[in-house]
Amino acid sequence: MRLVLVGPPGAGKGTQAQYIASNLSIPKISTGDIFRANVSGGTELGKLAKEYMDRGDLVPDEVTIAMVRDRLSESDAQDGFLLDGFPRNVPQAEILKKMLEEFGVALDIVLELVVDDEEVVRRLAGRRTCSQCGRIWHVDFDDKKDDICDACGGRLYQRDDDKEETIRHRLEVYQEQTAPLVSFYAQERILVGVDATGPVEEVTQRAMEALSPYTD
Ligand SMILES: [Zn+2]
Repeated sequence: MRLVLVGPPGAGKGTQAQYIASNLSIPKISTGDIFRANVSGGTELGKLAKEYMDRGDLVPDEVTIAMVRDRLSESDAQDGFLLDGFPRNVPQAEILKKMLEEFGVALDIVLELVVDDEEVVRRLAGRRTCSQCGRIWHVDFDDKKDDICDACGGRLYQRDDDKEETIRHRLEVYQEQTAPLVSFYAQERILVGVDATGPVEEVTQRAMEALSPYTD
């Protein structure tokens, strides 16, 4: 199965990507992993990407696309894959479609993890990080009333990334980019939405049920 996973920050996309890919016995291909592999492997594309990153610039689309193409050409991706983090927008989705056409294949499904904005804010803004051991606690899920780490006694703090303002901004950026992507795939008739609220295992279960009509 060839599948793309989309979902807002805080939807648990990375975790679900791993579980779903492993259940389907296909490689999980995330742009983060591809970047790291190219940079640490010292490939031409990796060197190019690193130049941009060292300057603090965004890596251009062409470089990312070339890396994705290389990765999808590898032998383990021939019978299927789960893409996480790509495509991010409609132009990238169109490029991916053409790329797969050249390979003589097509996407089977785009799975969208659906979580309400308020739930994302609750999940992320409740996180407290230990300044000493780095462990993350949650004010609701771990019923954390004080700001002391139960593991090491260190002081807990809220990372800037976990501040409500930052989260709401990331959600806005996500909606702007992803709403058109989701409509694109809805028009292609390969979009399936899955409720991503609740425990991780339940979400995986729902995702597998949603995918079952498309597996052999
Ligand atoms: Zn600690």
